[in-house]
Amino acid sequence: MLRLTTFLFVLSALLLSASDKPNVLIIVADDLGYHDVGFQGSKEIPTPNLDKLAASGVRCTNGYVSHPFCSPTRAGLMTGRYQHRFGHENNPAWLPEDSKQGLPLDQRTLPELLQKVGYATGAVGKWHLGAHPQFHPMKRGFQEYFGALGGGHIYFPGDKAGAEYTIPLNRNGVNEPQTKYLTEQFGDEASAFIQRHAGVEKAPWLLYLAFNAPHTPLQAPESWLKKLAHITDPDRRTYAAMICALDAAVGQVTEKLAGTKQTENTLIFFFSDNGGPNLSGKGKSNFTDNSPLRGAKGMVYEGGMRVPFLISWPAKLKPSTYDQPVIALDVLPTALAIAKAALPADRTIDGVNLIPYLTGNKPGAPHERLFWRSLGPQGNHAMRQGNWKLVHLPGGKAELYDLASDIGETKNLASEKPQIVTQLSSAISDWEKGTIPPVFEGPKQAKAPAKKKSKK
Ligand code: CA
Repeated sequence: MLRLTTFLFVLSALLLSASDKPNVLIIVADDLGYHDVGFQGSKEIPTPNLDKLAASGVRCTNGYVSHPFCSPTRAGLMTGRYQHRFGHENNPAWLPEDSKQGLPLDQRTLPELLQKVGYATGAVGKWHLGAHPQFHPMKRGFQEYFGALGGGHIYFPGDKAGAEYTIPLNRNGVNEPQTKYLTEQFGDEASAFIQRHAGVEKAPWLLYLAFNAPHTPLQAPESWLKKLAHITDPDRRTYAAMICALDAAVGQVTEKLAGTKQTENTLIFFFSDNGGPNLSGKGKSNFTDNSPLRGAKGMVYEGGMRVPFLISWPAKLKPSTYDQPVIALDVLPTALAIAKAALPADRTIDGVNLIPYLTGNKPGAPHERLFWRSLGPQGNHAMRQGNWKLVHLPGGKAELYDLASDIGETKNLASEKPQIVTQLSSAISDWEKGTIPPVFEGPKQAKAPAKKKSKK
């Protein structure tokens, strides 16, 4: 019986040609609020295309990213590992001459690993994993790239902003002019990639579509602004219009998948790289909505890294909601598993293949525990175990919340449950043994010594 099973397995593996392998499409939004898309409950911001994707796939109600801000989350996504293991805990400065500010070169990336098993790999959009040429997407596993290499970008051609946000767009290492509203241009490029790689004779593909929307600067097409007159705050209206443009670009992409008969066998992930920012203060308004979560981008309360999170793969996954915690670190092992590619054996991979959990073949939770740390070993810590959430901020006492009854982290139970605080704190200490301090500082710290040097 065992022999027959083995024989059938080998036979099916042989019959499975490269083109039967699923495509993988990772769509990342930037600084999107938890409550700012229809499928998360927004009544203000219409997102019909994302809602359709949610309705046809799995909506993960406890979906996380591994960091409360941009670049470290992307480092975790690309490697399937807590980025603290290799010191990528800050945003890299825009310093093309600095070979330290970027995703460390000894890290293996998802596109690199999928390329080894015959995938065509492309990235469109925001990179933010290092400005030095050695960190270019095409040096890190992508065969094709079009986008903005920094941490953000102007949306309309010719707009004014700082150096990082006005760099020329980059196609396969060569500068190229921006031709239209950036979110639309990224939608066009992603669709073109999908068209180019469609067809039974073609290799399966990975496309990483990383929108910089709705990250600031707040700039939106008039056509969308007109449709959102019901939102009175001008900043929130512009931000909402940016989300509508993103939704339209997602619609363009999913229509292209349908038009090229690739919907069924394409695994799609959609999530935001961190929570919505809470930009309060003079001249700014709190235009994102992370309700019912506490906190915002940059914080280790839920509002910092619990995000809208979708997984769609019509060939295998039934429309549903999934309530166990999942994290963007799971993308790499999930994609490698369905591509029948091996995980790197020489290092710890923290993500897990989610498919058996999402299909119900495997009971239980994919993760016993999840951890977050921001701003180094002396910085902010958090962890989740079951429904318990521990938050430990510098200089403060550990806080404990029961997310099952208190998703908004309003009632600190630390004094009532000291033994749980002790247990979770000890788990954080154990986890931290597998991490290192940041190998590069954030942009502000990184620029300071460079200035000093030039004065000498
Ligand atoms: Ca971000």
